[in-house]
Amino acid sequence: MSENDQMQVSILASSSSGNTTYIETPQHKILVDAGMSGKRVQDLMHSIGRDLKDVDSLLVTHEHRDHSSGVGVLARRYGMDVYANQPTWDAMASIIGKVPAEHQHLFEMGKTKTLGDIDVESFGVSHDAAAAQFYQFHHNDRSFAMLTDTGYVSDQLRGTLANANAYLVECNHDLEMLRMGQYPWSLKQRILSDTGHLSNEDGAAALMACMGQQTKKIFLGHLSQENNMKELAHLTVASIMKEHDYGVGTDFEILDTDPAIADPLFAV
Ligand SMILES: [Zn+2]
Ligand SMILES: [Zn+2]
Repeated sequence: MSENDQMQVSILASSSSGNTTYIETPQHKILVDAGMSGKRVQDLMHSIGRDLKDVDSLLVTHEHRDHSSGVGVLARRYGMDVYANQPTWDAMASIIGKVPAEHQHLFEMGKTKTLGDIDVESFGVSHDAAAAQFYQFHHNDRSFAMLTDTGYVSDQLRGTLANANAYLVECNHDLEMLRMGQYPWSLKQRILSDTGHLSNEDGAAALMACMGQQTKKIFLGHLSQENNMKELAHLTVASIMKEHDYGVGTDFEILDTDPAIADPLFAV
């Protein structure tokens, strides 16, 4: 594989208040989700030396606003092809407004699509949205898997996501911070349920069940700004993995994400 035929990724923004991720290869440029204003997504793209006018495809995971609020604007302003499954299209219609028919595409759950030189695999997660699905990207025998917004990780999903080169995995909350925090009981229950979000401990367990010899980079994502802290998520995941004899910092790196600052592009 030549140096310049790589897949590169930047987690542009990740938190429970707004998510967007950029993936590029020589032939295709993809955005996953746009849970913020079009202007903010463009500012994040500029911060890594890229521009939204070059993006070919916008993949949507589910209709929650922290993933969809900028989708309509980007589709209309930049003429991106937008992909989502049918229940998600239906559920986000009122949030995103009109998307020109020629830019609306179906991406059914469990299917794989080839976009340029990237094979994109979709898979369902356990979340309280119409039909939340996330994606794994394959290019030249390398893969990047995204898994957030899920209450738990099934055995089947562990198989699908086995041994990716890089992961973005959810570490939504610290259990104690959530329990002791200000959220109403019903919202706490929602977050903790099987269709809610992964805690820091859950994220570590999901990673250990999925990762393999090829795994080099792990991004901790979708942190709640109320119920988690970067340092705490990082420390919790790293210490659980070390307890299980994983080579944290030697075999692979654990990296943070930020609600407002893009992670630099990295080659998968
Ligand atoms: Zn979310
Ligand atoms: Zn969600």
